Amino acid sequence: MILVLQDGISREEKGRLDSKLEGHGCIVREISARELGVVGAPGRGGQDADYFQRLPGVERVIPVSTAFKLVSRRMHPADTIVKIRDVEIGGGRIVVVAGPCAVESREQAFAIAEEVRKYGAVLFRGGAFKPRTSPYSFQGLGVEGLKVLAAVREEFGLPVVTEMTSPDQAASMVEYVDVVQIGARNMQNFELLKCAGRIGRPVLLKRGLSATIEEWLMSAEYILSEGNDQVILCERGIRTFERYTRNTLDLSAIPTIKELSHLPVIVDPSHATGVRAKVAPMARSAVAAGADGLMIEVHHEPDKALSDGAQSLLPRQFAKLMRDIYVIAPVVGKQLDYAFETRPAAATGAPGERADQRPSVAFLGQKGTFSHKACTQFFGGRGSAVARPSFRAVFEAVKGDETRFGVVPLENSLTGSIHENYDLLLEYDLRIVGEITLRIVHHLIGRPGTRVEHVRRVFSHPQGFRQCRLFLERHPGWELVSVTDTARAVEQIRTAGNPGDAAIGSEEEAGLQGMEIIEEGIETNPRNYTRFVIIGRDPLPGRPRTKSSLIYSTDNRAGALYETLQVFANNGINLVKLESRPIPGRPWEYMFYVDLVGDLQAPSFEPVLSQIEEKTDFLRVLGSY
Ligand code: PEP
Ligand code: MN
Repeated sequence: MILVLQDGISREEKGRLDSKLEGHGCIVREISARELGVVGAPGRGGQDADYFQRLPGVERVIPVSTAFKLVSRRMHPADTIVKIRDVEIGGGRIVVVAGPCAVESREQAFAIAEEVRKYGAVLFRGGAFKPRTSPYSFQGLGVEGLKVLAAVREEFGLPVVTEMTSPDQAASMVEYVDVVQIGARNMQNFELLKCAGRIGRPVLLKRGLSATIEEWLMSAEYILSEGNDQVILCERGIRTFERYTRNTLDLSAIPTIKELSHLPVIVDPSHATGVRAKVAPMARSAVAAGADGLMIEVHHEPDKALSDGAQSLLPRQFAKLMRDIYVIAPVVGKQLDYAFETRPAAATGAPGERADQRPSVAFLGQKGTFSHKACTQFFGGRGSAVARPSFRAVFEAVKGDETRFGVVPLENSLTGSIHENYDLLLEYDLRIVGEITLRIVHHLIGRPGTRVEHVRRVFSHPQGFRQCRLFLERHPGWELVSVTDTARAVEQIRTAGNPGDAAIGSEEEAGLQGMEIIEEGIETNPRNYTRFVIIGRDPLPGRPRTKSSLIYSTDNRAGALYETLQVFANNGINLVKLESRPIPGRPWEYMFYVDLVGDLQAPSFEPVLSQIEEKTDFLRVLGSY
């Protein structure tokens, strides 16, 4: 049940209430400043809702009607993020777990780990205790297998996941692995679940072969009720009458879980289909359906695999799948937890940087803005986001060493360059050190109950208005009010309480502030992407640089621009952007903005750079990244 507390209840009164509830054997969780989630009182202590209603400080009691409580989103409205070293599952990043069905030898595990890491897995899987249908099949290497997994983590920097089949294995699990998996066959082994709840490691809970979603969530409830909320649900197919595939992958479980629970959910298309050729299509669909990650079986010699060879991808098939996921993820507002060009740094943490030294990153606005999303999706759990009120303040934060990096938008696919940030890049002596592209979906947001016909006034960032131009043209009577960022726009309508107000912003912002979406997807074209850049003083360590940005101007004479372009052409350099912009105070003179493929700051590019210098009267390399 949920207790809504009286307005203005003090910390002390709340503390007393907590202790009283715990004294009755309840599990108490704070949902918000005014709500407590309480589990286990009826049944265990015998008190009914009336009893709780009468406790000092309680305004109202709301029963939670589902069988599961702690896993329910009602008790914990925000998504739970499971942290495994510096990997986070349940945030904006798609996390891929890959590896063989079973650890067969050190050589086999190392060969596969090297491949899957290269192509973008951030966690390694491999069974050491294998629950096999037949007692005559390979049963796994046991503790020897766990030691191999620990060696894989040591050598490749990938945290490891393996299945625990009995509480007897708990101590070895804690010693050797990062995530404990509960297999489909053990989903309702309640002693094992309780043990997993006490083990102090994140738990990956597979869905049982014939389990309903409710039964599956009840199993997760066992783990949470033991005090462990670091649970990842894994859909791996259920048994139906269909025989062409090993199981039937229930993709509808993903949005269902997302609605019912705050726990992250990943999909295992390998065990779901049992057929190699079916793995990639189902993996792609899982990401499109909103999964937080994937678990994929990969084997370098599947014909020789001791288990599940027929469903294991070859490394090159895994590589292709990862490239597809990389493209699909931004369409559904996520990002693969992997940058293709910068793999070595991403896998092992940047050289010279410890996982516990999280770089701070300044961004515009507040939690929920697209800039915030760019920041969390680029750095994942490896960075801490610091809000700033303007783009200039982001640059100032980096310049003044308050934060190590900043994130600013530079270009939108519908409306073009964000010139303010180009100007700031010219003004401040900072470099572009990375980039990330986000799909931008805008919604018309209102207070609960607001309908489109009530709207008179709309708040947003000017970019929000520009990107929704066609939609706004259909409502010519609306007054448009610009504010500093889209989160501020939503905040404005929430606090002003005016029923004719609406905001343009993201789904996250609406959700965070308890507002409703009145009309979905109002950007002029759904292929609306914003390219954000990461700014800093120094390059991100250990990252190969594949792209450069520069700004220059030339003499005002025939052929001057052409001569600069000729230098790029003669050196085989591919330009991916060329834009001209007026120079303030010098009418009809222009600066040229160029993005090119290649690292202009590499020694091999020095001759090119000096030729360009000769042909320009101003040149600034904004950065290579
Ligand atoms: C596994 O992942 O190794 C496994 C045995 O899967 P499941 O429990 O889903 O069958
Ligand atoms: Mn398997």
